Amino acid sequence: MARQPSTRQLIDWDRRYLWHPFTQMQEWGQEDPLIIERGKGSYLIDTEGKKYLDGTSSIWVNLHGHRHPILNRAIKKQLDKIAHSTFLGLSNPPAIELARELIRIAPNGLTRVFYSDNGSTAVEIALKMAVQYWQQRHPKAGPKNTFLHLKLAYHGDTIGAVSVGNIALFHSRFTPLLFPTVEAEPPHCYRCPLKLTYPSCRMACLDPIEHILKSRHRDLAGFIIEPLMQAAAGMIPQPAGYLKRIRELCAKYHVLLITDEVATGFGRTGKMFACEHEGVTPDLMALSKGLTGGYMPLAATLTTDEIYQGFLGTYDEFKTFFHGHSFTGNPLGCALALANLDIFKTEKTLARLQPKIKLLTRLLQPFQQLSQVGDIRQSGFMAGIELVQDQITKEPYPLSIKAGHRVAAIARSKGLILRPIGNVLVLIPPLSTTAEELKKMVEILTESIETLHID
Ligand SMILES: *Cc1c(COP(=O)(O)O)cnc(C)c1O
Repeated sequence: MARQPSTRQLIDWDRRYLWHPFTQMQEWGQEDPLIIERGKGSYLIDTEGKKYLDGTSSIWVNLHGHRHPILNRAIKKQLDKIAHSTFLGLSNPPAIELARELIRIAPNGLTRVFYSDNGSTAVEIALKMAVQYWQQRHPKAGPKNTFLHLKLAYHGDTIGAVSVGNIALFHSRFTPLLFPTVEAEPPHCYRCPLKLTYPSCRMACLDPIEHILKSRHRDLAGFIIEPLMQAAAGMIPQPAGYLKRIRELCAKYHVLLITDEVATGFGRTGKMFACEHEGVTPDLMALSKGLTGGYMPLAATLTTDEIYQGFLGTYDEFKTFFHGHSFTGNPLGCALALANLDIFKTEKTLARLQPKIKLLTRLLQPFQQLSQVGDIRQSGFMAGIELVQDQITKEPYPLSIKAGHRVAAIARSKGLILRPIGNVLVLIPPLSTTAEELKKMVEILTESIETLHID
């Protein structure tokens, strides 16, 4: 085998040939990019052998650490059988077993699994299923073709997912391509648009949502929401009881509830799925990021028997769900996902996570004393720390000074990888992170924020 090119050579080729996601490539050249060659547990290791704590779980996907022996064994074992065969007209053992397992652990009432490759496609599928369901199951209900979603929502980067998203910086230039939707204010307690305080507000922000559902339900196919925490919006948590009320309202007005658990699923919030905290079963649920423990792209859209039945008929009724991907039901991904769920059992991942969630809460408290910190938000093992210029007025740092990125750059030099969202520093460690590693992450984060002086 040819010798691996030097780090210098790799960096040159990266600059010459690549285009990185969500990256201003003109600035990419200013600092040498880190080239990650291997990983172990909570650590990433670059081509020079330098170790970094993975504070983003490799952008929210990794659960049990890198190079986990059970996951490594599962993919090698499957590779010795077959890497891929199509799911169009054929099936395969890992995909079948995984569907059974997902239905076993999913909120009660979800009974069917439709596979795809990533979070965005899982969302697209939910949207398309919802629209086609109404046409076929309740043709007299009229054209229920549009969706309600929260402002600041993020559901992926494909056109349908962007249509139900609302992050102006990412989405505004694509407006001409997007289908129209209905937007509602999110329950953003730190910057409450109603200037109220929870719980005395009694979730008054739900009133306008009920109003929308009441007046628009005839053309609303579904309400799509990230349960418990709007993650990419900058870690905006929903108060306790909010999701349950949304479930009730959707049922009352015959609008399907679509939960996007791409970020919150697989233990992130402390339970297997965020919906469980509120005893909620959605009509459709999108899963991806943690599904394979962060090893390979795989996604699943789960739904109920009621929706599934709407697609049944003879061939020439053409009620088929006309959607599929080249890699639907990929056996390598499904074998990994099965092994991932197995680890949850054998390593008691969720039980062992609980004290670490409490530890994280304790470790985050002192941040409130830093003059640069406005708000600390946490749901399970995901946290956001919002930087502000002024704690009293909540005046944000202008985006142009890149406060979040400056802190992340310092953290990197101290051995912690972070990916901020604007002025919100996000800490999403692998669920397997040890107490010691968690303390180290928070220590580096504190030191890095303290260096932030802007004049
Ligand atoms: C990441 C994410 C997506 C998109 O998933 P991709 O795999 O990046 O396409 C959708 N919804 C939520 C909540 C996400 O966090």
